[in-house]
Amino acid sequence: MGSTGIGPFERFIETLRLLYPLMHTHLECERVTDVGLLYHWKGENPALAKTPVVLMAHFDVAPVVNPDAWTHPPFSGMIADDRVWGRGAFDDKGCLVAICEAVESLLTRGFTPERDIYLCFGGNEETRGDAAATMAETLRDRGIRPYLVLDEGGAVVDAPLPKVNAQAAMVGVGEKGVMTIKLTCEGHPGQIFAPSRRTPIARIGGAVARVTSRTFPARLPSAVPAMIAALAPHASGSARPLYSMLARVPFTAAQFFARLGGHAASLAATTVAPTQIEAGTTSDHLPTNASAILNVRIAVGRTVDSTLSLIKRRIADPGVTITIIDSSNPCAESPIDNPQFAAIRAAVDASYPGVVTAPYVMSAATDSRHFADFADAVYRFSPLKLSSEQRPTIHGPDEWVDLDSLHRGQVFQEHLLRSTAG
Ligand SMILES: [Zn+2]
Repeated sequence: MGSTGIGPFERFIETLRLLYPLMHTHLECERVTDVGLLYHWKGENPALAKTPVVLMAHFDVAPVVNPDAWTHPPFSGMIADDRVWGRGAFDDKGCLVAICEAVESLLTRGFTPERDIYLCFGGNEETRGDAAATMAETLRDRGIRPYLVLDEGGAVVDAPLPKVNAQAAMVGVGEKGVMTIKLTCEGHPGQIFAPSRRTPIARIGGAVARVTSRTFPARLPSAVPAMIAALAPHASGSARPLYSMLARVPFTAAQFFARLGGHAASLAATTVAPTQIEAGTTSDHLPTNASAILNVRIAVGRTVDSTLSLIKRRIADPGVTITIIDSSNPCAESPIDNPQFAAIRAAVDASYPGVVTAPYVMSAATDSRHFADFADAVYRFSPLKLSSEQRPTIHGPDEWVDLDSLHRGQVFQEHLLRSTAG
């Protein structure tokens, strides 16, 4: 927004009007903040008006850092090789158009919902802006308690776990908290020829090392054993009995994943990633201060406060000041044994036949977190195929979405709306 102003956002909103005329006739569209679009599709049954279905997506995108690295110009929307290329093609305009296409298509066929439906499109998700938060607050203030909220999140992936050779629709049922903290240390570093043993750089280095050298206590969200159980039958060789066993003993599974490290460990515990470190300007001068930034993903079941005190205890240096730059608590898990989750599974079966639906917990924050404490069920799933080669293109160069996925995404959303609001 800082570099482009609101112009491109307004043009996008105008384009939506042109592309989806029925949606803009039958649904009421309210602007909430500069870049929040809240569409309301009134249902026939007044008894279901306060427990609507909320479909979410965002229309802002991550920046393009190096346009030269792209095969097709990043904002061209080029269609080639059965794919749409461009920044935001997958994250998250692919999901957004799947929703709009579904609504337009349902309206074309004369569908009227029983239950109220809201479309909640935010324009500042990537910058952790306030559009979605304000829309959620607006609905809450009106006494609305969503029956179902669906936002971007997991996708239809081809290798959900090592040794599992099946496609799986990964549905985020909870999300980790995200916290950014800054460690700073100021002090007398001594002279360059007689440095103190505890210079600010040494103390910050030590603090970062102490926080990151050990894993955090493992605790498996209940979605993870359910995910393993869903995927185990599709595992090959000795992985099958191993997964079946782990699904039954969550405590052992938590320890097992924590020990594996990397992705697996992130399922089971809080993670801390040092992302920036700063001190000194020249090679022959001792700086009097040093700082580091840590990006923390807080496990479901923990809190910002409990995580911060654990980090403080590990740093164990009163000379290192810890400041929170931003933070959000994890979102508790939504159930997987309710009609809402069953409706998602059925919509996956209809749009991606043969694909297994599995719950998991997301390690990133989504706009849906603002609904977590007053909606009955919140899920995070982008009904689009996402291959392993495609994954780095999200927020990186050459982002794309395949045409077949966009069509299936529309089928998914139509099916979901018919079954939950029809
Ligand atoms: Zn996104």
